[in-house]
Parts: sequence; C-alpha cells; structure tokens
Amino acid sequence: MLFTAPRLTIVARPSFAEPAHLPVNWIGDSTDGERLAEYAGRLCYMSQANPANRKTGEYLENILKQAHGSVLEHANYSVLLEGVSRSLTHELVRHRAGFAYSQLSQRYVDESEANFVVPPAIIGDADLESAWQRQVESAQQTYVDLVEKLMERYAWVSDRVHRRKMAREAARGVLPNSTETKIVVTANVRAWRSMLELRGGEGAELEIRRLAVALVRLLQVEAPRFFADFEIYLATDRHESARTAYHKI
Ligand SMILES: Cc1cc2nc3c(=O)[nH]c(=O)nc-3n(C[C@H](O)[C@H](O)[C@H](O)COP(=O)(O)OP(=O)(O)OC[C@H]3O[C@@H](n4cnc5c(N)ncnc54)[C@H](O)[C@@H]3O)c2cc1C
Repeated sequence: MLFTAPRLTIVARPSFAEPAHLPVNWIGDSTDGERLAEYAGRLCYMSQANPANRKTGEYLENILKQAHGSVLEHANYSVLLEGVSRSLTHELVRHRAGFAYSQLSQRYVDESEANFVVPPAIIGDADLESAWQRQVESAQQTYVDLVEKLMERYAWVSDRVHRRKMAREAARGVLPNSTETKIVVTANVRAWRSMLELRGGEGAELEIRRLAVALVRLLQVEAPRFFADFEIYLATDRHESARTAYHKI
C-alpha cells in the first residue's frame, strides 16, 4: 500500500478534575486541557474569581501574548501517527523538550509487507511515481531475500526470536527512507506549538510540513483555544504551510 497522506488519531487528552475547595469562575467554552492550563495559570495569582471576567479563550490568548508558555506545559495530547515515513520520524524525534515517542521497531517487526509513503513532491507525476515505486519494491524484495538468507546463515542461534531479530536488523539496511512507520507522539501544548511552528514553516521538508499542517487542523478542533492563532495558507511553492502569530512562547 502507498500512502499519500498521514493518518492521525488522538489517543489521549487531558482529563481535568477541578478541586472542589478551590474552584474557578469559568466563562465561555473550553475543553479539559484548556481548563487545566487556565487553572494552573490562575493559581499563580490566586485569581480563581476571574476578576477581569475573561473567557477561557481570552485568558489563554493573553498567556500566548505574555509568552507565559510554561502554563501550557500542563496539557498533554498523544497522537498516533501512521502513514508517515522513516525519514519524517527521523526529523520529528529531534524535537526533545516536552515530547515522548514510541515507534514501530524494524528489528522486531517484519517489513516484508511494509507500506511506503510517496514523497509529496513526486505525487501526481506518473513517470516519477513509477520510477520511485520500482525502486522501493526492488528494495523490499532484497529485504525479503536477505532475511531468508540470514535466517539460514544463523541457523545455529537456537533462540528463534533472537535469530529473527538479527536477520531483520541487518536486512533493514536496504529499506528506503520512504518506508512507512507508526509512532505514538505525546507532547505538551507548548512543545506542540514550537514543533508546529518549525515544521509547518515554508523551510520545512514537504512531508513533515504536510504533517504539521494536518496536526494544526486536528488540534484546532481538539483544543481550539490553544491553537486558534495558527493560520494555514498556500505558500508560493503551491503547498500548504502553517504560521503562528505568537513565536515560540
Ligand atoms: C527547516 C529545518 C531544517 C533543519 N535542518 C537540519 C539539518 O540540516 N541538520 C540537523 O541536524 N538538524 C536540522 N534541523 C533540526 C533542528 O536543528 C532542531 O533539531 C529541530 O528543529 C528541533 O528544534 P529544537 O531543538 O528547538 O527542539 P526541542 O529539542 O524540542 O527544544 C525546544 C527548545 O528547548 C530549548 N532546549 C532544548 N534542549 C536544549 C538544550 N540541550 N540546551 C538548551 N536549550 C535547549 C531550546 O530553546 C529549544 O528551541 C532542521 C529543522 C528545521 C525546522
């Protein structure tokens, strides 16, 4: 199977449990994650009574304006990413602060039937697509042959799981960067915003940029008051980009 877009699924979101002895005077719509951040921020000044009568959206926008980003670190969202390439995740995992990752292991998982991700710049050109596809399929066949031969070569390793791991970890060397992978990514809102700004920008590689744009859309629905300031636009290279009004809070 060939992927031409990532598949994103939110697998965890904050669950806010308001202390009965220290409640906030909430105004306006909000989600649990947004309330958690507002709650933490209000604790700093003991402003639970909400003297300025701010809606949660207004309160959080002020947090962005003041670059009081640490308040946003309380809210974490976990997303399952599928249909992304190994080259994309190699770039993604460079984002360290506030991120956690768990990725499909090419040592344990058989890649004989692995899927591939078509690089965005190739999509829509039949000649480029078929040249690329021939190459990835040939690499995958070589992988299958290598695993089989390595299993024979190391027949004296009695632990079959260990032997398979030895075979797969060596054979994966021929798999292309376009091989599809799956990864669960957890990050707090401050970290997500920083990553989305960097990877949604016009200088970012096209596949991770496409992912960042898709994540902006997903998170704007999930927690609009954290991400509403991100704007998606068509850049001069005719691919979508995302930009924010509040740089690296
Ligand atoms: C367009 C683009 C091109 C790139 N090209 C390359 C490339 O050619 N080669 C390459 O190697 N990488 C490249 N990168 C990756 C880039 O260098 C960063 O590793 C990546 O963007 C993660 O950014 P970060 O370190 O700010 O993120 P995080 O690791 O999430 O850190 C977030 C912030 O926390 C602070 N922080 C985190 N760790 C430390 C620390 N140890 N000490 C002090 N402060 C810290 C910093 O303020 C940092 O900005 C590229 C990134 C982009 C967006």
